[in-house]
Amino acid sequence: MMIFKTVLALQQFLNHQKTLGKKIGFVPTMGALHLGHLTLVQYAHQDNDIVVCSIFVNPTQFTDSKDLEKYPRPIESDIEQLEKENCHVLFLPEVDEIYPKNLVSPHFDLAGLDKTMEGAHRPGHFDGVAQVVHRLLDIVKPDNLYMGQKDYQQFTIIKHLLKITHSPIRLIRVPIIREPDGLAMSSRNIRLSEEGRKKSTIISQTLFQAQKDAQHYSLQEVKERALKNLSGMEVDYFEIVDGDSLRSINSFEQADIVTACTTVRIDGVRLLDNVILKEKSI
Ligand code: AMP
Repeated sequence: MMIFKTVLALQQFLNHQKTLGKKIGFVPTMGALHLGHLTLVQYAHQDNDIVVCSIFVNPTQFTDSKDLEKYPRPIESDIEQLEKENCHVLFLPEVDEIYPKNLVSPHFDLAGLDKTMEGAHRPGHFDGVAQVVHRLLDIVKPDNLYMGQKDYQQFTIIKHLLKITHSPIRLIRVPIIREPDGLAMSSRNIRLSEEGRKKSTIISQTLFQAQKDAQHYSLQEVKERALKNLSGMEVDYFEIVDGDSLRSINSFEQADIVTACTTVRIDGVRLLDNVILKEKSI
């Protein structure tokens, strides 16, 4: 695997590959890699000649500086895992490589997608996400971009960003990879206590139950049953939304894609999860 720390060196390599007609697949991450991230790399191998993964802990998307400091950075093990997955390129920039002093970052109209759910709990977070993804895409200029359904709102916002910037990049949604007991894999899971880790299974169980309930109950009933399941837990939100606009809806017929999204706090760790309750096949 080739490791590039500067934009210039990465672009020299990628420009050459593009002149040879090679397709580039891109997986942006913040590191502390697990099977969820590696699955994105596996998906990227399917459709591309060159797989580029980036590891960059983006300071502009953290609303809490302690969270930024605490973010795990096990770079040696990350490199080892990417090598095992035959990732071709790792882009590992420092902060001033992504945000040089003379860079003017455009501000994007995220059409309110950034204000609900995660956005309501982390003001400015998605501005930071849009800023870094736009910058990384401008550097890598991939053909295909791979992002996880795990961060459903983030995925939807990046889909919107590609649309409003008339980007030719194809965005691929990769399903959520879970632990055997259902907990969605996340770099933050290691911060859970033993007891908290046990409790955490209620989140995915509730969402899977909601998927079953969606066959028999009204949307309102599905939500009520889910909230009852989560009673006693510290629920930041549980929303059933139009999976494109992220607006709350009252019936399953109101949207082509209906997604249940939740964030539950355990041991002070915010655990995000979601399931798609209905998706119209195209
Ligand atoms: P992060 O390093 O947390 O910014 O995540 C980088 C990418 O990996 C994002 O597109 C995430 O949605 C995706 N991702 C993280 N966890 C999972 C998971 N459990 N399953 C699938 N994708 C994931």
